[in-house]
Amino acid sequence: MQTFQTYSFQNKRAIVRVDFNVPLDKNTGAVSDDKRIRAALPTLKHILENGGSIVLLSHFGRPKNGPEAVFSLEQICAKVSEVLGTNVDFADDCISEAAFSKSAALQPGQVLLLENVRFYKEETAGDLEFAKKLAQHGDCYVNDAFGAAHRAHASTTQIASFFPNDKMMGLLMEGELANARKVLHEAKRPFTAIVGGAKVSDKVLIVQNLLNLADHIIIGGGMAYTFFKALGGEIGASLCEEERLETCKEILATAKEKGVQIHLPTDAIIADRFAADAHTQTAPSGAISGAWMGLDIGPEAIKDFSAVLENSQTILWNGPMGVFEMPAFEQGTKAVALAVAAATKNGAFSLIGGGDSAAAVQKFGLQDQVSYVSTGGGALLEYFEGKVLPGVQAIEA
Ligand code: AMP
Repeated sequence: MQTFQTYSFQNKRAIVRVDFNVPLDKNTGAVSDDKRIRAALPTLKHILENGGSIVLLSHFGRPKNGPEAVFSLEQICAKVSEVLGTNVDFADDCISEAAFSKSAALQPGQVLLLENVRFYKEETAGDLEFAKKLAQHGDCYVNDAFGAAHRAHASTTQIASFFPNDKMMGLLMEGELANARKVLHEAKRPFTAIVGGAKVSDKVLIVQNLLNLADHIIIGGGMAYTFFKALGGEIGASLCEEERLETCKEILATAKEKGVQIHLPTDAIIADRFAADAHTQTAPSGAISGAWMGLDIGPEAIKDFSAVLENSQTILWNGPMGVFEMPAFEQGTKAVALAVAAATKNGAFSLIGGGDSAAAVQKFGLQDQVSYVSTGGGALLEYFEGKVLPGVQAIEA
């Protein structure tokens, strides 16, 4: 396997699979958060500074039936130019003659962005013939799209087979894996995992795998209420997945067997409806009545969770503690973010899973006070579920 740092990019056209699936402002259409573009910058700069040119390949949203203007990467081309500090050309297709002429004409230092690779259904199908065509755009393949590494798509997986000696991971991908491995394989103890968010069903596999790894598992967010129901509590109109009650019981039993401490939020901020201006109260999480619903963890839970985090040496966080998008229900997530930052200051290693946890840490301005904020929500989750990521495997094969 080639390593990115030692590979010679001199006069080579590098196909770089990036994750430029960035959010756009609903009103202006401008890129509202360019974090994902900036995350690929070290990789792109390295190639250009070492005499190479770049063909950028990315997905953008989830187009269903071919090209659609709302999913066109042309909308972000100017932003990519701005972040890179050099003009980026755009090809309005991935495998047309015009696109191939543009990539063939690239000179060292130049960059071309291809149109959304998901405009082709062959992409998500992992079609080998389509991957072969994409491969014709360059002399080597760099995968820097950690956020898409859990997908076995043509541009993340199959394409690598056409570059047996010229495929490698980019710096972002390498960094993501190094940080994830640190937690998965070299966690200093006590190791605390914080799992939150809306649904138990989305997080069952990760919790089950964490039962083999962590000393403490903190469970917050909407998913906690299914646990309280499984324990015989009353949860009112809080989120509940009836079909997961047994799973919750099994998780609690396995934790006991393995000596893993599960921490559930003893109290909750409850609301009389799902709204930012709802009436609120504090209540025990297992004694919520009628139409009331738990939308955040309460002050006792914040104290309990903070105490566990204060004594932790390794922390993995995936999923918010409440509906942190609404100020009335952000306190739990904010307090946990502050506790993670304080533990990090005291020497703990903290890895923040992508998606909503990353958004929360950013919302509270704490992104520089944790050890690493991952760019990959689903990919990181699957990594900690113990799965092999196809995008990584294709490079390592
Ligand atoms: P996930 O994508 O599974 O990590 O879930 C994140 C979403 O869960 C966020 O949009 C939160 O608003 C939501 N969430 C967190 N806690 C609750 C709760 N107690 N009730 C309903 N939704 C919640």
